[in-house]
Amino acid sequence: MKILLHEMSWVEAKEYFSKNDIAIIPVGSNEQHGPHNPFGTDHFIAKAIAEEAGKRAKVLCLQVIPFGVSHHHRQFWGTIYVSPKTLKAYVKEVCLSLNYYGIKKIVIVNGHGGNLNALTELARELREKGIFVSVFQWWPAAGKLLPDIFKPEERGHAGAEETSVNLALHPHLVSMDRAVDEEVHRHVAEVEGITLPLDTVDHTRSGVFGKSTTASADKGKRVFEVVVNELAKHVNLLKKAKVEDLMAKPMA
Ligand SMILES: [Zn+2]
Repeated sequence: MKILLHEMSWVEAKEYFSKNDIAIIPVGSNEQHGPHNPFGTDHFIAKAIAEEAGKRAKVLCLQVIPFGVSHHHRQFWGTIYVSPKTLKAYVKEVCLSLNYYGIKKIVIVNGHGGNLNALTELARELREKGIFVSVFQWWPAAGKLLPDIFKPEERGHAGAEETSVNLALHPHLVSMDRAVDEEVHRHVAEVEGITLPLDTVDHTRSGVFGKSTTASADKGKRVFEVVVNELAKHVNLLKKAKVEDLMAKPMA
């Protein structure tokens, strides 16, 4: 059974849409991930997790949306970014196209934390229109596994955690000889719990937050397996759920 929409014909798509009300959309970014990881890190990982879980749960999966909210990485050459407003509008129109064919449950697999606010806002908006959207992110979904196998300094942007998943999925795109460990610089105005409008370059010269040289494909494979299982579990729960149980409740 085909599960990738872009590999189907319209006849095959019609067959899926006439029997199912659920689909998966992976969303990522094209942003710097240190001197050793590819720009596509966040969208490659989102795509791989989404497609594997889609295969296991027999749920339609769309093409990955590669550009995200990465303005704060722009000082590193090659980072391509869109505003939260543009991302939200673009993903919304993709969701509405799916809804035209009867899709009422959508799982967004988000590979980039910077996209989360826009996607959460969208999910709330679409629930009002009768479309239930959930946003799945692999790093919180991995639960206790990540803090168990990575030290806190390995868990930052482009650190050993993300690099390990890259090594597991597409090792030919990672240059471990260029991997660095860089302690995160504190900004002069930084105080715990206060949000500042800073860029990545305010904290790191290499683009890596913390330690990346300790990455391993084995650890990445363990992470991938756990998060794909979690996503498939979530997709299966949604698949079974009644649409009316997912929608906003009326006033008491
Ligand atoms: Zn990333």
